[in-house]
Amino acid sequence: MMRAGSDLRVLLVEDSRADAHLVRLMLGGADNPACVMTYVSTLADARSALRNHSFDCILLDLTLPDADRLEGLEQVRALAPSVPVVVLTGHDDEQLALTALHEGAQDYLIKGQVDGALLLRAIRYSVERQRAELELAFQSTHDLLTGLPNRMLFIDRLGLGLARMRRKPSMLAVMFLDIDGFKFINDSLGHDTGDDLLRAVAVRIREALRPGDTVARFGGDEFTILSEEIGDASEAIRIADRLRATLQPPFALDGQEFFITASIGIVLAADPDDRPEDLLRDADAAMYQAKDRGKARYELFDEVMRVRVARRIETESGLHRAIENDEFTLLYQPEIDLTTGRVVGVEALVSWQHASRGLVGPSEFIPVAEETGLIVPIGSWVLEEACRQGAAWRSRMGPAGPFMMSVNLSARQLLQPGLAAFVQSTLESTGLAPSDLVLEVTETVLIDDADHATKVLDELRAVGVRVSIDDFGTGYASLTYLRRLPVDILKVDQTFVRGLVGEGVDAGIVQTIVELGVRLGLTVIAEGVEHEIQAEWLKKLGCRIAQGFYFSVPVTSAELEEKLLAPGDVSEVQSQGRLGF
Ligand code: C2E
Ligand code: MG
Ligand code: MG
Repeated sequence: MMRAGSDLRVLLVEDSRADAHLVRLMLGGADNPACVMTYVSTLADARSALRNHSFDCILLDLTLPDADRLEGLEQVRALAPSVPVVVLTGHDDEQLALTALHEGAQDYLIKGQVDGALLLRAIRYSVERQRAELELAFQSTHDLLTGLPNRMLFIDRLGLGLARMRRKPSMLAVMFLDIDGFKFINDSLGHDTGDDLLRAVAVRIREALRPGDTVARFGGDEFTILSEEIGDASEAIRIADRLRATLQPPFALDGQEFFITASIGIVLAADPDDRPEDLLRDADAAMYQAKDRGKARYELFDEVMRVRVARRIETESGLHRAIENDEFTLLYQPEIDLTTGRVVGVEALVSWQHASRGLVGPSEFIPVAEETGLIVPIGSWVLEEACRQGAAWRSRMGPAGPFMMSVNLSARQLLQPGLAAFVQSTLESTGLAPSDLVLEVTETVLIDDADHATKVLDELRAVGVRVSIDDFGTGYASLTYLRRLPVDILKVDQTFVRGLVGEGVDAGIVQTIVELGVRLGLTVIAEGVEHEIQAEWLKKLGCRIAQGFYFSVPVTSAELEEKLLAPGDVSEVQSQGRLGF
């Protein structure tokens, strides 16, 4: 808030007594002061006044006996950086006054051209403008919801902390704290309540820390903590314990009590050359590790994680290049009709031909591609390549007979606007019939955002392609829920097929899924068939189509053609399957 006029504390630095007197008169005289004025006539006195008292504004003459031109401005700004300065100058020195504005003065007045109203207005205006600037500076460095420092300020403080370690060897700890299940609270109670919770959490964290520690909000439900002068790991762990303890008592929100827990990742830094971004990344990785191990705990970043993070970074940067350099290839795994032994389709699986690591499988890079969004261009390439290959095979086998080219879609692709239109244009440009394309989506993706997924799947089916639920049985989709989903095919997850071995196996789950599929009019495909006995069980249970190493591992398009074309060599395609070409 701006002070009332009579409250303004002004420091006048002016060597001419006459000018000083004039200023005093203009500001209302001694009887009715608009300002409380302190008057000094040298820069040395100004400096001591600034050290001992606080002011709202400084009126500074630019021609002082003990300061050369802008030197006075420079020195008072250094001593009191948040106090606005209005410079006073002679009419022949306006150029100097303009320079002063560049050097941080808020305003300038030319002696002899000033009256009381103008002077007072200049003072009030500069005070107000300085306040607005400070507020803006606060806003750009703080999180407005909680008032805590934001990411930028945190990184700045962390940088300073590291620099201090250079002078005084010690350690600092960076922690990443994430509230478990916050999204659920936010979605079910509404965002206002979610905001209240975040504010309350911020207060508790702040109170649990030492005064010199920094706690920042990084957005969402993520908080970061910087503790300096840490003796050893156990000290950091004690802080983490304190943080968890402070969050234990229930939070009163909306007239109800809520219990929350948080997961904390900790990284210790002893090297002043560590980079703030790297430390944050490592603390984040440790936090995820804590969550993976069962929430509500802390995890210290260690060597194993360091290696994993390094590999991840390498994968990530490599993926960027891989797209440019066309380093991806598709392998195809046949899908066999168990009753006829024929190949009725293939699943396209992407691989990465890495310069030094060799052929890298999708499970190693698809998750990274997902997180970074690179899955979108990769997925587009996969779809185009698979459709092109599918159209070539279809034209060789003729229009009759079953054939499906199955392509995996990631969660991120499903969220991409215009997916159905892209699929349609890809089919058109490659010449593959929509009925020959199957898009596989994992069950968990469908559960996470069922409404959106349903809408996109409807659009895709309107294009004429079939939709398959991949890894079915792992995501706890309920029966009623399944009925509502616009899908054509269920792919039974490998874990269930794995159980179909030996005598007296528990075939219950597979049987249930097969029956469920039949009842809902869906095609059921079993994945991961590695042994003959599994194939036999599946046939017995009524599952028609299967895929797995027992029939063939994923192979290149040339290998597939060769295998399916060579009449004598069907050792791997046990079913003697043929694509019909
Ligand atoms: P998925 O779609 O469930 O693919 C089946 C995975 O099981 C493949 O692993 C395949 O090689 C493997 N597999 C097939 N038969 C057997 C078997 O008999 N025994 C065992 N143990 N495994 C078998 P892969 O190629 O490593 O792919 C892993 C996952 O990566 C895929 O699981 C899929 O979710 C994802 N993926 C692959 N290609 C793409 C792609 O182009 N786009 C996207 N978004 N994801 C892909
Ligand atoms: Mg699949
Ligand atoms: Mg699968």
